Parts: sequence; C-alpha cells; structure tokens
Amino acid sequence: MTMIEVRETGRHELADSRRERTDSLVAPARVNAAAVSSSPMAATPHRASRLRRPKRSRLRGSDVTAVCGFVVAVTLGLWWQHGGIGALLEGGPGRLQAIGQLTGLLAALASLGAIILTARPAFLERRYGLDQLLVAHRWFGISTVVLVVAHSVAGTLAWAALSGTSVTGGLVDLLANESWMVAALVSTTLFVIIGLSSSRRIKNALAYETWYFLHLTGYLAVLLGFGHQLTLGSDFLVDRIARWWWIGLALATVAIIMWSRIGGLVTSLRRRLYVTAVSREGDGIGSLHVNGPSLRRMRIAGGQFFIVRPLSRGLWWQAHPFSVSAAPTTAGIRFTIKEQGDDTPNLLRVKPGTRVLLEGPYGVFTAEKATGSRLVLIAAGVGIAPIRAILEDCHPQQQPILIVRVRHEGEFAHRAEIQDLIRARGGQLHMIVGPREWFAARDPLAVRSLEAMIPGIADRHAFICGPASLESAVIKGLRKSGMPSSNIHLERFGV
Ligand SMILES: Cc1cc2nc3c(=O)[nH]c(=O)nc-3n(C[C@H](O)[C@H](O)[C@H](O)COP(=O)(O)OP(=O)(O)OC[C@H]3O[C@@H](n4cnc5c(N)ncnc54)[C@H](O)[C@@H]3O)c2cc1C
Repeated sequence: MTMIEVRETGRHELADSRRERTDSLVAPARVNAAAVSSSPMAATPHRASRLRRPKRSRLRGSDVTAVCGFVVAVTLGLWWQHGGIGALLEGGPGRLQAIGQLTGLLAALASLGAIILTARPAFLERRYGLDQLLVAHRWFGISTVVLVVAHSVAGTLAWAALSGTSVTGGLVDLLANESWMVAALVSTTLFVIIGLSSSRRIKNALAYETWYFLHLTGYLAVLLGFGHQLTLGSDFLVDRIARWWWIGLALATVAIIMWSRIGGLVTSLRRRLYVTAVSREGDGIGSLHVNGPSLRRMRIAGGQFFIVRPLSRGLWWQAHPFSVSAAPTTAGIRFTIKEQGDDTPNLLRVKPGTRVLLEGPYGVFTAEKATGSRLVLIAAGVGIAPIRAILEDCHPQQQPILIVRVRHEGEFAHRAEIQDLIRARGGQLHMIVGPREWFAARDPLAVRSLEAMIPGIADRHAFICGPASLESAVIKGLRKSGMPSSNIHLERFGV
C-alpha cells in the first residue's frame, strides 16, 4: 500500500494497510533554541499580538478596464483622425503604412502595460495578486513581440514602396538617414530575444538569474523604441496634442514604475528587521525567523509573501520571494524555505542578528478570500508554507480539510503544529506520501479520490500551493466535482 492517510478529527485513524502507529508519523519540528537565545534580536518576553491585516483594495475590475479602454480609445482615435482608417481602406503602400502605424501604436501600449505589470504596483497587486499580474504581463509581452515584428515588417515594406527602392534598400535608407532608427532596431532585437527566452523550453534551460537579467533589458527596449515614435511617427510629428498624449503616457509609466520599484526598496531599507533564528523543519527545509522594531507597524496576512534580501555577504544582491508560514505576530514572522538551488541553502545559514530587507507584503492568497466558507487546503512539498498560515486563520466553522502531498515524510514541514491546528479546528488531515511513480496506476488526486476525501466539495473554497503539474491536476478534479473556478485560489512558486 502506498498511500498513508491520517484523518485527524479529534482522534487518529489510520487508513493504511501497514497499520503504522500515528505517533510514528509525528516528528515535531523544533526551533533551534540556542540560535534564538543567542540572537541579539530575540523576541523580548511580551504577549505576542497579531499584526494588523493589510487594507482591502478598493479598486474594481471595471475601473481597470475603463482606464485601459480609455487609453486605447484615445490612441486609436488620434490615429483615425490622422487618416489611419482612410489609408487602411485605400490599399497600396498607404495601407502598409497604416498597418505599420497601427501595429506600432499598439505595440508601444502593450509594452508600457507589460512593464507596468512587472513593477507590481501596489494598487494592482493588492487587487489581483502577483500571479494574475504575471499572467497578464505574459500576455502583454507576447502581444508586444508579435506587434513589434508586424510593425517592423509593414513599416519597412511601406518605406521601400513609397521611396521606390527594394526592401533591403528601404531598410538601409531608414537606418542610415532617420534618427532613432538604429535604436529602434536594437529595441526590436531585444524584444524578440526576450520573447524567445520566455518560452518554457529556453527559460528552463537558463539559470533563473540569467533569465531575469535578460528580462530586465525589456526596460531598455521600451526606452530605445520611444525615440523613433516621436521623430518618425506621423501622428506625433504633426499634432501637438497627440505628441503630449504620448509623452504623458510614457511619463505616467515611469512614475508608476519608480513609485513601485524604488518606493518598495526604500520602504524595505527603512524597516529595521533582523533574522532572529534559523530552524530545521525537515529534509532540506528550514525556517528563517524575522523580527525587529519595525515589525509592529507592519500590516501582514498569513499566506502573503515578501521579497527577502538578507544583508549578508554573497546574499545582499539577490532577493527571493518567500511566503509567511505562520500567523504574523509581534513575536516575529517566519518563512519556511526549501533548499532548491544556489541561494536557498545559504539563506538557511544566515547568522541570527543579520539585517534583512523585506519588500512587501504581496499577494492575495489569504483566508480572507473565503471568509465564512468551508475550506479545502491542498499543499505539496514546501507549498505547505502559505497553507499552514491560512490554516491558522481558519475558523472551526470552516471545517478545514487539509491534503498534504509529499514524496517522503521528512518533507512534511511543521507537521506537529499542523496536526494541532487541525485538531483545534475539528478539521481533517490527509497525507499522501510516496514518490510520483507509486501513484502511476491510481491518481490520489483524481476526481473520485478528491470526492472521497472532501465532503461537500462543490460548496467549498480551495487553496492550492504546489508544483504546476499538481495544481492543474487538482483544479481539473475540483472543477469536475462541481467547484466553481471563482472558489479556487492558487499560489504559484514558479515565475
Ligand atoms: C510568490 C512566491 C512565494 C514563494 N514562497 C516560497 C516559500 O514560502 N518557500 C520556498 O521554499 N520557496 C518559495 N518560493 C520559491 C522560491 O522563491 C525559490 O525556490 C527560490 O527563489 C529559489 O532560489 P535558489 O537561488 O535557491 O534557486 P535557483 O536555482 O536560483 O532557482 C530555482 C527555481 O526557483 C525559482 N526562482 C529563483 N529565484 C527566484 C526569484 N527571485 N523569484 C521567483 N522565483 C525564483 C525559479 O523558478 C528557478 O527555476 C516562492 C516563490 C514565489 C514566486
């Protein structure tokens, strides 16, 4: 039998043919007491109180649609007014030119949207969460690349036709005689490289940092593309209002990015927060405990995440996102970290007392998404971190059912705490333990298994955190069991 199932409803019940004792499944993780007490920032003995939760976003989806619709409508209106539609209907080189202008304008808008989204502006992040922003960023990015390529092809063909030269001659003429065209060519090349490097296959072959720094050149690509829009774009050459509209859009984008990126960094620099302890939680998993004088003033909900940057040698120049894995209190916050690659093992070796910069909190993966509803929480591996924090925020009336998928028991971090939380809330805990191959014949997360584990599945809200393959399998199962997609909440650890 490969599946161990523990149901915790006040008493232990083992559904495993090997009849293991439940006690053998319990291996409490302990905070390294020596590390805590040796830390200069160890929590002073006071009654820990819960930190305030972040303010709710008042932004509505319709507000965002209205602003985007307005920007696109004004831009297309100006193009129309400058004879764009007429030229498009006429045919000949004029049509090519109109297509070039239209795709250029839309490419520029899409690129501004993409860089705004990736800057994680708080007003959007608090409403949609980073996941959704990154999904939207991806679509804006893909649209930018497609439109930029279409714009380059149509623009060059139109230029060649209108000046009566070959395509190559037209391209050479553009690059040699028109200002900002070399910059535009570099911009197009960068967009194409960024687009290609974001395909799953190439991205997986690159180190995260290589991919990230390559992606950062997107800002340069947008900047380099801007010059030729003003010097060559007929809409902006002749019409002062159009010119200022375009400059205004660019300045608004810069302001949002500076405010989000630099503002976030400045806030994290002003916070006085320190690592108070590092504890081991399981095989290749540990926790970073953080506290400091600034913590009391922060607003954090369990399940949110921070961009964490310890100011220690070799680590200060890199920042990684980690979720809060317990209810954030004045006694400190905790991040549960799996050793994945280059930096995470070093993060778990940081000395207590090290200053740490926390940017955030970010994310909308919090219990507030399902206040008053019955819950099912599904975690795989270190996905348990935000799920553990959400469980702590559950009310017994929400009858939480927690399904934990781990390859081996040592991978189940915070098990003792979780069992206590489940017991206190009258919930149930199901563990699915074993390597993936064991479950080839019988998928433990298929519809029938899910329905057997989760009574009243269709009316519950689900919180899921784990690898993409598990998430999609579970979502499929939950949807087939009648759970509406609006009740399914995800946190993705990959970007
Ligand atoms: C919203 C969110 C919350 C997360 N919460 C947790 C958590 O609570 N516990 C935990 O163990 N892990 C969490 N992660 C994943 C964690 O950030 C990465 O595992 C970690 O950054 C890997 O760093 P590395 O240098 O050891 O590995 P690398 O070898 O550099 O990377 C391994 C993989 O981790 C991802 N990754 C690396 N750096 C980053 C980064 N700066 N931003 C996003 N992804 C990155 C990439 O997909 C990469 O392929 C979270 C990720 C996200 C996006």
